Amino acid sequence: MPHIAEVIVDVPVLQTNKPFHYEIPQEFEQRLVSGMRVVVPFGNGSRLVQGFVTNRFEASDYKGELKKIEQLMDLMPVLNTELIDLGEFMAKETYSFRISCYQTMLPAVLRAKYEKKITIVDDLEEEIFFEVFRGKQELPWEEVIDRDLVKLMLELKAQGKVEVNYEVKDKRTKKTIKRVTSTLSFEQLEEIREGLRANAKRQIALINVLQSIDSGEWLDVKRLNEEYGITLATINVAENKGWCELQDVEIYRDPFENAQIKATTALRLNPDQQIAYNKISNKMDENVHDVFLLKGITGSGKTEVYLQTISKVLDENLGALMLVPEIALTPQMVYRFKSRFGEKVAVLHSGLSEGEKYDEWRKINNGEASVVVGARSSVFAPLKKIGLIIIDEEHETSYKQEENPRYHARDIAIWRGAYHHCPVILGSATPSLESSARASKGVYTLLELKERANKKALPEVSVIDMREEAKKGNRSNFSLSLQAAIQDRLKKKEQSVLMLNRRGYSSFVMCRDCGFVLGCPNCDISQTLHMDTKTMKCHYCGHEENIPTICPKCHSKNIRYFGTGTQKVQEELQGLFPEARIIRMDVDTTRRKGAHERLLKDFGDKKADILLGTQMIAKGLDFPDVTLVGVINADTSLGLPDFRSAERTFQLLTQVSGRAGRAEKIGKVYVQSFNPEHYAIQYAKNHDYNSFYKREMHLRHLSDYSPYYFLVRISVSHENEMTAAKKIGEFIHFIQPALSDKAIILGPTPKSIARTHNRYHFQVIIKYKKEEALSNRLHELLANTQKDQAKGLFISIDSQPMNFI
Ligand code: ADP
Ligand code: ZN
Ligand code: ZN
Repeated sequence: MPHIAEVIVDVPVLQTNKPFHYEIPQEFEQRLVSGMRVVVPFGNGSRLVQGFVTNRFEASDYKGELKKIEQLMDLMPVLNTELIDLGEFMAKETYSFRISCYQTMLPAVLRAKYEKKITIVDDLEEEIFFEVFRGKQELPWEEVIDRDLVKLMLELKAQGKVEVNYEVKDKRTKKTIKRVTSTLSFEQLEEIREGLRANAKRQIALINVLQSIDSGEWLDVKRLNEEYGITLATINVAENKGWCELQDVEIYRDPFENAQIKATTALRLNPDQQIAYNKISNKMDENVHDVFLLKGITGSGKTEVYLQTISKVLDENLGALMLVPEIALTPQMVYRFKSRFGEKVAVLHSGLSEGEKYDEWRKINNGEASVVVGARSSVFAPLKKIGLIIIDEEHETSYKQEENPRYHARDIAIWRGAYHHCPVILGSATPSLESSARASKGVYTLLELKERANKKALPEVSVIDMREEAKKGNRSNFSLSLQAAIQDRLKKKEQSVLMLNRRGYSSFVMCRDCGFVLGCPNCDISQTLHMDTKTMKCHYCGHEENIPTICPKCHSKNIRYFGTGTQKVQEELQGLFPEARIIRMDVDTTRRKGAHERLLKDFGDKKADILLGTQMIAKGLDFPDVTLVGVINADTSLGLPDFRSAERTFQLLTQVSGRAGRAEKIGKVYVQSFNPEHYAIQYAKNHDYNSFYKREMHLRHLSDYSPYYFLVRISVSHENEMTAAKKIGEFIHFIQPALSDKAIILGPTPKSIARTHNRYHFQVIIKYKKEEALSNRLHELLANTQKDQAKGLFISIDSQPMNFI
């Protein structure tokens, strides 16, 4: 057996992507496998850190003496070889460290946690030993609370009497139950019973039960106690005497334990669906990786295509991965998968407790679940053989992680699809421009569903000009037409969904009379309001000006920051319709576990007439009695200082419109806007994705943005403004020589929130088409700045950033 292990270590300050070699002690020789977590000594002090074993070798080229692995943390590997490789790819693509990639792949309970403690290594004075250490060899660091104690510890350390140690903690919690079975025959038990005293009532009861079960049958110890009063102590005694055997078995916490799920079967596909199904299915038969863009209007039956292609995957004993944006991961959505595939489905979403998430993860890792439905991070689900990967609502920005490692689930999915030689489906009614562009170039294969599955037309959308409302003297959040429509639905006992667009809340300034939004004179995007400096700033080029008090276009004084809260809107709505039953859904009302599900269920059970909420109600809901959708303020997302703001607005309006009229009754949508002629709103009104795409592509081309250019953003922050500014300058200096003259550098500029937590933030954006040397140079930058980072400079590199606020 090779006795050198290659380990990626978790060293919080000086991170490295380089693996280290360790000797495998004899006692672990047989058990240690790549993908296990280990505890290893690291650095001069040989302090103990966690690491992942990524390989085993016969010999090491390391010259010095190798340190030994201290401890194994797993009995089974937590990463398979595919995920080990994926971590290497991901670290490179996302400019992050392999260790953080591996930790990201695992459920939180398996992530490293360190406990700092003080250990006695030499005799202490008795008084200190008993008073401070309370007669124990160790003292947890948290208990060293006051200054005097810290001083004492420093002295003891200097005298070589104590050491500071880090212990790696495993937070894992398995849920287990105890069960018992008989090890003797009926007759043998009968003999024992005859030898017992008559008052040994509990033992007799246990023997009766043991005699009543079939050989190999197990009984739950808890039930024995509840039903027969037989305690664990009695069973322990019996086990010692050899009458029975006790066992701990793992069980899974089932978040859907009490849900009544009715089985469903495949629907007969319509011709468009059938074509899509056949094309995907052919690739599966050929065992070939391909990326499909499944573009289908809301309600066109994309999900049915997912279900049937997954079903084929299961017939071949492979696994399937289905990603859904967190907010669309509604009980309705999960129900559709559970009702088709039952126990084979594992669901991963943020509403689960850490223990529940770990259970679902184990089911997948053990091969008990073969369909994984989940949000972004489920893309790392440890399925062993994957036959299909689906990303629903592929345009959703939540697929990009906004913290290190800054990966995009789409990229990971495509990597895994290539690894497993299987198709990847990207589904959406409003695909991202990037994906559409790839489909039109033939990089992805386009599949289209152009009609609703029930043949119903998409709802009619009316855009309401809120400037006219203002002129009529209606200063409320509800136009007269929307008010009338709500009144009508209340009368007919039909339901309404009202959405308050909260994106970019209060961060920009708009004229209430003419809809004017203050843009940057250089950049064609809106400027952001900075409360800290009381100025308007452009994010991209750094342009800065005073907050306007008079509208430059119509000279109205009604220009102010734009936005309003859901609670305020609810009060206003209730005032207008005192009899209406309103459910409000926003971050405040859905914070508690299960609240999201409960509110939607109540609405589905018709316990309310109106569902009022933020973007979280725009996706995936399918309620047959909803015949009215109202968008209270379409403009907020248009005002974002982001080149994707029109795209986001178009997508959001299309999604939310799709909630109306999904069943028999015809739906109607009202979109309220101060910019009704904006192309994003007009194309959404006409359900015209293709024209929107053309127009937007043209604009992106003119301004050199994605998908014509790639983007990378380098951000730094420091407590000292000068240091941060100086450093970002140095970094650009370092990167520039690696770039061709085709690359475009924007900045450096202060970030939109230039100061947070007393740190100053700066960023630079590089736009490029093809820069061979850029990636390596950025990795060098990361490696070279470790010393700066140890001294409090934060640096992050975001490849293809999705968020500019
Ligand atoms: P999407 O995911 O594209 O929004 P869904 O898959 O949710 O669309 O389908 C919308 C509705 O149409 C659902 O109620 C679904 O059961 C129904 N449906 C889908 N495909 C078919 C079909 N082939 N025949 C009948 N009904 C269908
Ligand atoms: Zn104006
Ligand atoms: Zn600008």
